[in-house]
Amino acid sequence: MARQDFRTPRLFLDTELLAGVEIALGRDHANYVQNVMRLPPGAEVLVFNGRDGEWRASLESMKRRVSLHVQHREREQTKAGGVACAFAPLKHARLDYMVQKAVEMGVASLTPILTQHTQVSRVNVERMRANAIEAAEQCGILTVPAVGEPAPFGQWIANLDDDRVLVFCDEEAAIDDPISALRGAAEGPLIVAVGPEGGFSDSERRTMLARGRTVRLSLGPRILRADTAAVAALALVQAVRGDWR
Ligand code: SAH
Repeated sequence: MARQDFRTPRLFLDTELLAGVEIALGRDHANYVQNVMRLPPGAEVLVFNGRDGEWRASLESMKRRVSLHVQHREREQTKAGGVACAFAPLKHARLDYMVQKAVEMGVASLTPILTQHTQVSRVNVERMRANAIEAAEQCGILTVPAVGEPAPFGQWIANLDDDRVLVFCDEEAAIDDPISALRGAAEGPLIVAVGPEGGFSDSERRTMLARGRTVRLSLGPRILRADTAAVAALALVQAVRGDWR
């Protein structure tokens, strides 16, 4: 992996980044750099917006008005990879974990799917987006994955592109070599699907298996919690088909 600067604080700013511009920070960012990071005036930070790469900037003023002076581009924008993740939303801590880890694993998008056995009734999409941004900031990821609106299972699968390989994490699949299962799958972008704590229902399982480009992925002889299953499946997919190669 190319050497990166992990000591300088990194901020996601949803604003255009160009050499020489000055960006006034909003309250949250100002609070973060001043009170959490305790950065002095002139301190350097790295900024990115998911579109224009990563830029070095310096903290211009303090007290009331906190702004950044954007200097030069440090890294070119990277493209989103071909691995997406769909999952049944979990309760708070596990959901936070799953979103953060999926971002670290380099997913291009995250889609919450409301399955028959999903136990969470209200999904806080804004919280998921904030988690995705935080994980990207911490790990030097320049493309923040899109977090989709929650979709009922039927609608989600009906709208899935035909050319996308669905990697169905299936605890009932015969324990087989997951690496050969992924190697044998069709070419093209992939989406990993992980069920809720209660698992996918029989009809959901049948729908996924009836689809053309579906690979059943066994993650070994033990039942994993959904958040663990997501990380394990994404590691396999990135290693065999994604950007770990
Ligand atoms: N149906 C199960 C547990 C579901 S675990 C039960 O209630 O006993 C939650 C999700 O994690 C599953 O839907 C599946 O997508 C994934 N998962 C867990 N263990 C797995 C394994 N060994 N292989 C493949 N997927 C697994």
